[in-house]
Amino acid sequence: MNKYLNEISKIAREISDEVVIMEVCGGHTNTIMKYGIRNILPSNVKLISGPGCPVCVTSQEDIDSMIVLAKAGIKIATYGDMMHVPGTTTSLAKEKAKGADIKIIYSTTEILDEKNKDRIFFAIGFETTTPMSAYLLKNNITIYSTHKTMIPPMKEILKNNKINGFIDPGHVSCITGSNIWEELRVPQVICGFEKDQLIRAIYKLLVLIKENKNEVINDYKEVVKEKGNIKAQTLIKKTFKISNAKWRGIGEIPNSGLEPKDDNLNAKIKYKHLLKNIHSQENSICRCSEIIRGLCEPKDCPLFAKTCTHENPIGACMVSEGEGACGIAYKYISKKG
Ligand code: SF4
Repeated sequence: MNKYLNEISKIAREISDEVVIMEVCGGHTNTIMKYGIRNILPSNVKLISGPGCPVCVTSQEDIDSMIVLAKAGIKIATYGDMMHVPGTTTSLAKEKAKGADIKIIYSTTEILDEKNKDRIFFAIGFETTTPMSAYLLKNNITIYSTHKTMIPPMKEILKNNKINGFIDPGHVSCITGSNIWEELRVPQVICGFEKDQLIRAIYKLLVLIKENKNEVINDYKEVVKEKGNIKAQTLIKKTFKISNAKWRGIGEIPNSGLEPKDDNLNAKIKYKHLLKNIHSQENSICRCSEIIRGLCEPKDCPLFAKTCTHENPIGACMVSEGEGACGIAYKYISKKG
């Protein structure tokens, strides 16, 4: 048994009040669900998932915009998961089946190939994946950016939720450095993705919470440095500018997005004539918007594992089995059940 589990029980008894910990990153949610970590914690320690699944937080309008471009004959490249996020009336996967020229890629370097250089890249993700898009911009590839940064939504979530501490995203921290989280002024632990690392992080977080210390512990020092990856940060600053961004479930958050500095490489500007008058609508029963903000769990959605499955996702949170809260829950709960 992990030696920290006993310590967690002891400290949870000492705290006695309910403690709410948000794991921000979908990768952490995956490990938590895989090993049933929620079930082995004391009853007053609650883990909730946050907005750290890039597929989930991409707004319906951005999905619909890409579908409009694909239908207009623009050649696109994107990651496989984005193909299956339901737009208002269709999806990229359905449009590809009807003949739209969409290339599914595993690495952005595929777009640097001469055959693919005329494609626009549907770019998603947080600080972790932004450097790859920055490299494309440096090589004059046009992108449709839905890149986002993590601090602004976490501040938004703190305004409306009772959160006692965050498990900070390890991969994002690798690029940004551990220092950036200090401005949130709540207890936080940066940790890796193994179950033992997560359990140790929960213990360390409970210690901070009990002692009322709004500090950040970097418990992933083998990967995360104080100042992060300076080379990646420099490339991002050279090619991107900060902008407002629309988040599924949260709405527009000022200064939480990144757009290409060069308008000629910005698909939203290049094709703005095609992107006028997009009227997006999400499924009215889908509870993704609450799940992303940590206000409910997949099992609270009446569609979960019934009409909404990984094979037929109704909402964005069901698409990624690696990072989406509903997709992960479906993988580990529903299929076993
Ligand atoms: S189960 Fe499906 S419909 Fe329900 S919240 Fe999750 S993604 Fe949305």
